[in-house]
Amino acid sequence: RTDEPWRPFNASRVYMADLESTLHYSLRVEVSAFPVIKGDALKSLKKYISVLAKYFPGRPVVMNLLKSADSWLHNVSRSEVSYDAFRALLDNTEQAPDTALPEGVRWVGCQGSQPHFRGFPCGVWTLFHVLTVQAMNSGASDGLVVLSAMRDYVHVFFGCRPCAEHFESMAQESLTEVSHSSTAVLWLWSRHNRVNNRLAGALSEDPYFPKIQWPSPEMCSVCHTVKVNGDHKWDLDQVLVFLTSYFSNTSILTGGGE
Ligand code: FAD
Repeated sequence: RTDEPWRPFNASRVYMADLESTLHYSLRVEVSAFPVIKGDALKSLKKYISVLAKYFPGRPVVMNLLKSADSWLHNVSRSEVSYDAFRALLDNTEQAPDTALPEGVRWVGCQGSQPHFRGFPCGVWTLFHVLTVQAMNSGASDGLVVLSAMRDYVHVFFGCRPCAEHFESMAQESLTEVSHSSTAVLWLWSRHNRVNNRLAGALSEDPYFPKIQWPSPEMCSVCHTVKVNGDHKWDLDQVLVFLTSYFSNTSILTGGGE
């Protein structure tokens, strides 16, 4: 590692610092590429903020901000909004002191061994795994609500365009199979593993964080079984139990990196 030293962290835990950094980067950097937000971009931003306001397991000040952004977007009567107006709402913490969206990024579990590794894309995956699990735990009746918001966000705003195209083709291929919120959790996990499989050994891979079929047997031995012919097989019930606990709000670490 060539720049600043590692912030101490546990590579098998989820950190709130990564989730908040992802919110900051997506709302203040990626969305800002649209000076005027309208049409599909506005629809997509509304869905994203609505899912965040419902399921982001954040601190009260962050939840207050997400909820006020959600109701502001909901009440917009015009067919377009300027990014400046949206940004003013995100930064309007002086008039609304009980709201806050921290500025800047502080990657902890998503730190890379070099500045160009990990960070935001790692945060995006982590955020959406957390949101699918939160939706399931809150008994969301619409299994697709989080994945559909993710699909639209990635399609419109995600800066890595080849990633967005790959993700969209996976969504087109099989998202209609998802009906229940537990199937949504497993769909995202299995598509993430497909991406890991495709990227293993690629130049974008951080050598300190090799792409594996996740979770490893060390993290969850009962998730892995062997077929009679010796091939590997996932135990999906156990995988769901593991994901539910790993990404649950009670497992998220609020410290880290100090
Ligand atoms: P990530 O893959 O970002 O994973 C973050 C963390 O999630 C891991 O550290 C691990 O703790 C956990 N995790 C790993 N696998 C799973 C799983 N299956 N289920 C649940 N949790 C898991 N990069 C490209 O070069 N080409 C692409 O086409 C591409 N497509 C992408 C599409 C999307 C939607 C996103 C969000 C990112 C995409 N990326 C792509 C980036 C790439 O997937 C990684 O995010 C990036 O390389 C950083 O990798 P990472 O080591 O931080 O692990």
